Amino acid sequence: MSRLSYLGKQLSRPTRRDYVSSIRGLRNFGLSCCVNALLQSISATEELLKLLDRWNPSGNYEERNNVPLLLRKTLHSMQGESPQPAPHCEFLDCLDRNSIPRNVQHDADEVFLSILNLILQKMTDTQLKEEILELYKVKVEGHVVCSECTFNHKVNSYMLSLPLPLQKGQNNLEDCIQKFFRQQELSGEDKCYCERCGEKQRSTQGFKLCSLPQILCIHLKRFRYKGGFTQKLHCKVTFPDTLNFSSILDPDCISDVFKKDDSPYSLYAVVVHSGTAMFGHYTAYIQPPGEQTWYYANDSRVRQVNWDEVQSSFGGQNDGDTAYMLLYRRQKTSEDQGYSV
Ligand SMILES: [Zn+2]
Repeated sequence: MSRLSYLGKQLSRPTRRDYVSSIRGLRNFGLSCCVNALLQSISATEELLKLLDRWNPSGNYEERNNVPLLLRKTLHSMQGESPQPAPHCEFLDCLDRNSIPRNVQHDADEVFLSILNLILQKMTDTQLKEEILELYKVKVEGHVVCSECTFNHKVNSYMLSLPLPLQKGQNNLEDCIQKFFRQQELSGEDKCYCERCGEKQRSTQGFKLCSLPQILCIHLKRFRYKGGFTQKLHCKVTFPDTLNFSSILDPDCISDVFKKDDSPYSLYAVVVHSGTAMFGHYTAYIQPPGEQTWYYANDSRVRQVNWDEVQSSFGGQNDGDTAYMLLYRRQKTSEDQGYSV
């Protein structure tokens, strides 16, 4: 957000209304709105805090540089009974020392993935490390099939957030997911080298879904880098509060190893970007664990909202609010005991 409006925000004293919810607002310290919005969505991810709480680091470590330790401390401070004026300042400084500088406008998805990577780098407990990774891992099989000799080059990989390309005009989330997994033709300059033919050939490329995580993070790719500039797509993307994968994907897009699971996913956090690619501001809608109520966190200001207002982040108008990241949680069935896939 702009320096001017940032100063304006600091001058306006928080009103009593700011603290009526169970959610703590976070002051904006020099363009920290991106990390603030992410912290709100992470604080609604109780599964991650439970895993971080199980960590008992031993040996030599420096807390001020340790992202998982300071994240854990910050999340607890945000839940504390006696509000501190700035529970996240140490965390912002810690990120700054770990190549996520303060006073810079960031991309929320990049910072989210960097925070996850920094947690995994500093985590000394290999079991917990694996469980944190599994919490977010979307496992896929990438296929490139040569159109000439039908050789299938298969690569297993995973993503910690599902990057969905958007098209101009109207989009809906289910269509975007289908398109992500659907096979596409690679021809002309996009031709791929075929190992069997020994030369570049026309081919088809696609992903097959192997498994879905407990926490599904979806990245709506609203920013395009073109000709040295970043452009923002303000297009409308509708998304449901309950997502059922088994009714979205074509059978062709599901791997043989996929274990059918009809548990639907419930939306619990939306990271919102408003403004333009050059001049933006991040906020978040969150639904705390165990609550049906939605809250809107705009830095230090937090207020209760209804589902209709969450849907105002579908976008479609230039400079309006647009959902940028969606966090869904797999609903537990009676047989579920944990969150492993
Ligand atoms: Zn071939």
